[in-house]
Amino acid sequence: FDELAGTDPEIAGVVLDELARLRGGLQLIASENFTSPAVLAALGSTLSNKYAEGYPGRRYYGGCQVVDRAEEIGIARAKELFGAEHANLQPHSGASANFAVYAALLTPGDTVLAMSLPHGGHLTHGSKVSFSGKWFDVVAYGVREDTELIDYDQVRDLARQHRPKMIICGATAYPRLIDFAAFRSIADEVGAWLMVDAAHFIGLVAGGAIPSPVPYADVVSFTTHKVLRGPRGGMILAREELAGRIDKAVFPFSQGGPLMHAVAAKAVALREAATPDYGRYARQVVANAQTLTEALRAEGIRPVGGGTDTHLALLDLRELDVSGRDAETRCDAAGITLNKNAIPFDPQPPAISSGIRVGTPAVTTQGMGSGEMKEIATLIGRALREPDAAGEIRAAVSALVTQHPAYPRSTDHPGS
Ligand code: PLP
Repeated sequence: FDELAGTDPEIAGVVLDELARLRGGLQLIASENFTSPAVLAALGSTLSNKYAEGYPGRRYYGGCQVVDRAEEIGIARAKELFGAEHANLQPHSGASANFAVYAALLTPGDTVLAMSLPHGGHLTHGSKVSFSGKWFDVVAYGVREDTELIDYDQVRDLARQHRPKMIICGATAYPRLIDFAAFRSIADEVGAWLMVDAAHFIGLVAGGAIPSPVPYADVVSFTTHKVLRGPRGGMILAREELAGRIDKAVFPFSQGGPLMHAVAAKAVALREAATPDYGRYARQVVANAQTLTEALRAEGIRPVGGGTDTHLALLDLRELDVSGRDAETRCDAAGITLNKNAIPFDPQPPAISSGIRVGTPAVTTQGMGSGEMKEIATLIGRALREPDAAGEIRAAVSALVTQHPAYPRSTDHPGS
């Protein structure tokens, strides 16, 4: 870090200010976490220098014998941890991983059945502003209005009617477990591939806290930076028979040289995720999300879908008469970072929305437990009802994060 500060004080200042922001408030964005200093060290390593187009043992550049080891170790760890037949660690992000899965299994114009964005699906599951909705014929399923749970009858009916070539499950804002066996049986009935986008919950799977999609899916794609606590990036698991198609779709079809520092950092995260400590962490993430959700319910904030089985809750703010947008701003002023989120059948446009999404991966990494979750719910309730009390709430937030600091052992910057 001293090198950075000496060469570029401006960017060093940005890095330090961001660390202070992370440490100074409550980070409740469900898709964020604090990676370990070991992951950060791999990310900041000289592996960034190496061009390694291709795959271990089959590169288009010389001098890859050392970086090959990082990728081989990472692939072996991913296969072992998830019980997968094939793993590709090269996707630069979750969206890149999904792009590669479409490229491997489909041709533009093919029909895909996926969860609608307003009901919790991701942009790459068929939104018109993404390649998925522009180049593919995407039919959307959603949740039932009464239960706010995935409507499996609707999924089956739409599959029979539209005969999709691929069905996608997995979402960005769905708090309950997904019935992978039900999706498998629907996919089998209509002869479709089953792709599970496990970006949000793969870390819980890695820690054994929720069931795995791997035995059911043809392909599982995910990001490595959410509950899994790895570097920002993507990964794909697949059945052996699809290995060649997936690998070619990542490189050379959609990407060039892999980011070998990120591949190595993914390997580090996979090693960490295989430890008993990480299993305890994953179970605590879920327990914390459940405690937080129930405590928010006691504050008069309704959990969508009746609660959570995962790391996140989606909350309907209509009883408080506060929009998602205002809630995000009020919480931000109080030192609580979360995001506004549309709820299913939301009467408000997405930029305003009637809900917020909260997640516990980061606060659990900080060592917070059930007592802190109850306190956080009280602070959120107060921030929403009393915008004028932002200063007082911020002081309480500050006390909480001082007791449970992010990156506690490092004084300037982790990895330095
Ligand atoms: N898929 C799902 C379900 C996601 O939630 C996300 C990101 O939030 C992505 C894909 C895309 O990941 P990235 O932002 O790394 O492209």
